[in-house]
Amino acid sequence: MSDTSAKRLAGQVALITGASSGIGLGVALAMGAAGASVVVNYRSDAAAAQQVVEQIRRGGSQAVAIEADVSKEDEVQAMFRQAKEHFGTVHILVSNSGIQQDAPLIDMTLEQWQQVIDVNLTGQFLCAREAAREFIRRGIEPRLSKAAGKIICMSSVHETIPWAGHANYAASKGGLMLLMKSMAQELAHYKIRVNSIAPGAIKTPINQEAWETPEAADRLLKLIPYGRIGETEDIGKVAVWLASDEADYVHGTTLYVDGGMTLYPGFIGNG
Ligand code: NAD
Repeated sequence: MSDTSAKRLAGQVALITGASSGIGLGVALAMGAAGASVVVNYRSDAAAAQQVVEQIRRGGSQAVAIEADVSKEDEVQAMFRQAKEHFGTVHILVSNSGIQQDAPLIDMTLEQWQQVIDVNLTGQFLCAREAAREFIRRGIEPRLSKAAGKIICMSSVHETIPWAGHANYAASKGGLMLLMKSMAQELAHYKIRVNSIAPGAIKTPINQEAWETPEAADRLLKLIPYGRIGETEDIGKVAVWLASDEADYVHGTTLYVDGGMTLYPGFIGNG
């Protein structure tokens, strides 16, 4: 029987990157509520990360904050070393860190291009590589999970929807789609499950200007057939399910959690 209990991730360690805000914060809280011990990675906001740690602890799970820039190889390796020193191992990676540096193509600087690729794509490679090394070293612990480890990449609807004015971001997420699938193909025989979550519009600091005024929210809602902007909890619940054995046969796929944003809503009543 699959475990559908509230604490279905008890005994497992989940490392969430970019967990001091937004979706990463929501995922970290959901993982903690599901019984996982949580590594709250942050890049610069130590105080915010510590608050997340304390909230998870108040809920009865363990947590620790670890600083690292996911685009730096030595920092990612140090983060995994610290996580293993603290909790012994890692079972779940939610590679969530991401940035936008928006500009029309003809004005985009190489720095804007490079920063987004470094965090959103190279960061995914570096974190997944360290996670896979640890999952393979440790192997399956049958009392905890059928899989040796789970990698969940935070992608975006823009892994498939082109996005004018955001070519660097869309390229990073499109690249992430084939990185995820290639890793899934390569790591399956180790019983490592690899998937992506592609959020639509979720209320977080990254897209605040798109929902903070009623006019902006109305414009955004035209792109969402289901008629509401997403909350970080919507993603947290899916991440917990995807990390659990309930999703044991889900491998190499992107789960769109977008209220229908990928359904070409411009065709409603048109075309
Ligand atoms: P956010 O800005 O709140 O979160 C991004 C997090 O990444 C922050 O905590 C930030 O500190 C961290 N980060 C940035 N650079 C980092 C680095 N070099 N090393 C470590 N951490 C770093 O925004 P969010 O919306 O929560 O974004 C989280 C993820 O979800 C991103 O990958 C984003 O592309 C994706 N996403 C968000 C939406 C949305 O609507 N909010 C939609 C689709 C995809």
